[in-house]
Amino acid sequence: MNPNLIDVHTHTDFSPDADPRATMMRYVEKAKANQVHGVMFTDHVDFDSPIEIFEDQIDYDVYVKELEDVRKHAGIPVLFGVEIGYQSFLNQKYHDLLASRPFDFVICSIHVADGLDFYNGDFFVGKTQHEAYQRYFEVLLDAVRRYDDYDVIGHLDFITRYGGFEDRDYDFMTFQPIIDEILITIIKKQKGIELNTSGLRYGLSNMHPKIEVLRRYKALGGTIVTLGSDAHRVSDLYAGFEEGIDILRDAGFDKVAVFKGRIPTWVSI
Ligand SMILES: [Zn+2]
Ligand SMILES: [Zn+2]
Repeated sequence: MNPNLIDVHTHTDFSPDADPRATMMRYVEKAKANQVHGVMFTDHVDFDSPIEIFEDQIDYDVYVKELEDVRKHAGIPVLFGVEIGYQSFLNQKYHDLLASRPFDFVICSIHVADGLDFYNGDFFVGKTQHEAYQRYFEVLLDAVRRYDDYDVIGHLDFITRYGGFEDRDYDFMTFQPIIDEILITIIKKQKGIELNTSGLRYGLSNMHPKIEVLRRYKALGGTIVTLGSDAHRVSDLYAGFEEGIDILRDAGFDKVAVFKGRIPTWVSI
């Protein structure tokens, strides 16, 4: 693996749903053991989440102090990212947070739609599978139209992870009109998407998003793609990377972005 291919989607013990043993320094040790030249942390900030565990927010004074301490001992670059859980009424709050600290990278993800949680199933009540997936994509389209302060959209078809349906997959052609609008908006605004390898760890047959979406993004002129495991424990750092690289190549990409200071640097795959 290219030593500059940093896993750019990881959660440390600062994320409420991560393994309490997943300290920054342990990720650094694993990166060094794998001869990868750097780590990126993208802990959760989900303002106004209906999910109880996300009510406690990161104290960024404490966070940055630990980050600086880890940087002193790491011996490899330690990048400072964040994964924001977007809801449309929070634009200003996220903008203020992102302006207040020197973030390297911002992933914008939809974890909640219409104030309803995916994980506990509230979002799916009274909706067919098609209606739920369609509404999720509508909320994502609204987000990319309204909001610009991010670098990549996280796990673009994440909704397939939830809902408890027998076949959680979706037919790309059925949703292509709205997915096209989402991708075209992202591309126009010079933003990117990620390939998030975690789908396979959640028993899905695809990573997020599935290859048809990656191919379509490429065909529409998209160039910025990042690769991340969405690790919530140290053992998942680089999980699925070999397969992820194959999928990206198959979709026509020969490089991925690693953001530093909100600017992409390119790593060949
Ligand atoms: Zn996420
Ligand atoms: Zn994540």
